[in-house]
Amino acid sequence: MIIVLKKKATERQIQHIVAAVHGWKLKVNISRGTERTVIGLIGDERVIRSKPLDMFPGVESVLSVLKPYKLAAAEGHPERTRIQLPPVHRGGRPVVIGGPQVVVMAGPCAIESRALLFDLGRRVQQAGGRILRAGAFKPRTSPYSFQGLGVEGLRYLAEVRAELGLHVITEVMDTRDVELVAGVADVLQVGARNMQNFNLLKALGRLRKPVMIKRGLANTLEELLMSAEYVLSEGNHDVLLCERGIRTFEPLTRNTLDLSAVPVLQRESHLPVIVDPSHGTGHWDLVVPMARAAVAAGADGIMVEIHPHPAEALSDGSQALLPKNFVKMMQALRAVARALGRNV
Ligand code: PEP
Ligand code: MN
Repeated sequence: MIIVLKKKATERQIQHIVAAVHGWKLKVNISRGTERTVIGLIGDERVIRSKPLDMFPGVESVLSVLKPYKLAAAEGHPERTRIQLPPVHRGGRPVVIGGPQVVVMAGPCAIESRALLFDLGRRVQQAGGRILRAGAFKPRTSPYSFQGLGVEGLRYLAEVRAELGLHVITEVMDTRDVELVAGVADVLQVGARNMQNFNLLKALGRLRKPVMIKRGLANTLEELLMSAEYVLSEGNHDVLLCERGIRTFEPLTRNTLDLSAVPVLQRESHLPVIVDPSHGTGHWDLVVPMARAAVAAGADGIMVEIHPHPAEALSDGSQALLPKNFVKMMQALRAVARALGRNV
């Protein structure tokens, strides 16, 4: 059940409702939008339905959300979620995800060295990318493959972030590392292989930092939304959804990038949707056309992998764009975004 409050609802009215709901032994989840506040009630629907919720002062309407993802659902959530990353330095620029700007996140698959990260961080920034992506903890299929620089990599990421004033996103694989990664990252990434690591999702729900959840290799969009629900239900409202391709019978691409995920997720949910055409295709020459298509489909952001020497990359070299092709991609995305009344 969702309680939509009037625009002019006061903090006292909100607290009055919260106290009553707690008295009924139900959980509340308060989402404060720029326009209005929405209160989600979690618990036995039969108990909730018997309560006179619309009689409380400040309440505009009460909606019963039929979807299993009560808090992620677009239903009962009049505004789309906009996630604001505060500037890295005072006087710097914030990043807003879910607004008119298509936010581009780019960087190496893995942090391989301090020098490489600085080089790519500068290139991302110069080309107009807003967020540097780079993995310190890498989920690899083989235990013999490069596993990432771990804590050392996070240190380099913190240095680049501070020096360039550039926001960063990086993956967290383990509940034990949540605090550590949250100490550096502006956005914490949950990888496809951890999409249903429910303990990790719950731990991230207790943070007050944005979380991007990548769709699992064989997961439905409803399952992705239920994973988002885990984070939201713990009180963290800043969740991004990421389509990164799913496994199908097609061998000419690494994964099949499901671009219908963009309008479907935007219809079903108020959360911003990011598309990753690098993992979605697995081949660098397919990345730019699919990035253009993702912007055309209405994605709120794009995530791509870049590397100056893809043949020598320690992971995912075959899908990495050369920096010069990343620059070309940015030009192409600007043209597509402009045609849709947006910007990059
Ligand atoms: C990545 O972003 O480098 C990554 C490992 O992605 P995914 O979890 O989608 O495979
Ligand atoms: Mn990768």
